[in-house]
Amino acid sequence: ALYKAKSERRGFATLYSPDHERRIRSERAVEAALQTADLGAEMTVHLQPIAAVGDGSLAAVEALARWTSPHLGPVGPDVFIPLAERVGIMHRLTLDLLAKALACLDHLPAEIDLSFNLSAHDITCHETVMAIMALVRRSGVRPGRLILELTETAVVRDFETAEASMRLLRSLGIRIALDDFGTGQSSLSYLRRLPFDKVKIDRSFMAGAGDGEGRELLAAMVAFCRSMRKICIAEGVEDEEQLNFLAAIGCDRFQGYLLARPMPLDELVAFERARRPF
Ligand code: C2E
Ligand code: CA
Ligand code: CA
Ligand code: CA
Repeated sequence: ALYKAKSERRGFATLYSPDHERRIRSERAVEAALQTADLGAEMTVHLQPIAAVGDGSLAAVEALARWTSPHLGPVGPDVFIPLAERVGIMHRLTLDLLAKALACLDHLPAEIDLSFNLSAHDITCHETVMAIMALVRRSGVRPGRLILELTETAVVRDFETAEASMRLLRSLGIRIALDDFGTGQSSLSYLRRLPFDKVKIDRSFMAGAGDGEGRELLAAMVAFCRSMRKICIAEGVEDEEQLNFLAAIGCDRFQGYLLARPMPLDELVAFERARRPF
């Protein structure tokens, strides 16, 4: 009886705690601000470099959405992207962000590619996929310079439709990366069936680069990518030890605070210039 009372109390606390209420209220505030946001003015993209593990040369930049609301201040994409899907502005937001990200490529050397994140909504919405393709054509950017990042969760929500979208995008020359590899529930044989070009190992696995078991797991993940002939990118690389280990196991590329944080275009241009001889 004592145990039951305690667990009931705990249930009550999680359901009605002031914390929970505050979170709901703030979610509503973010939703409201998002619905009336001037996407063109309030949303920007930051760029984070992705480099070759072998020689550190820049291979690509990942565009990461940034929102500064005049009412709320800066809000992170982990918060506003799911809400944007819920309030039904994802189509508009994705196209606005992609247009901004593609425009950045004019200021970067032609050998640097652009990686862009798509949500579950984007990849399962035919209209969005068609609009993305039209936007890429209009931009004049070589489609081979664009990589679209998809998480496994985004794909499995409607596997058939997502797979058809992926094939359509690839027919234009756009490439697809599996984002956050290792965090989903799908079996490897399931993932094998999808037309990915690249795989990004989730940053949660980088913490393991310092211990035996974690190292074995990382090595197995890289080996899996290589066996499928996919370019393998490690995310969230924060120290030299991790990078050295990635080199030892044959990982192709890396991204993370060790190299650089996401930054605005002008900073990225200066960063890139400083790394190469003029
Ligand atoms: P993601 O695609 O996995 O992006 C990587 C996240 O890890 C970014 O967080 C980045 O700033 C952070 N990061 C990079 N290097 C390191 C590191 O060394 N250590 C640590 N601790 N973190 C690192 P951010 O910018 O807050 O984005 C969060 C998520 O929001 C992204 O995760 C992505 O799922 C989503 N997102 C961001 N921009 C967009 C977008 O334009 N469209 C869509 N659909 N989703 C986006
Ligand atoms: Ca990503
Ligand atoms: Ca990721
Ligand atoms: Ca993530």
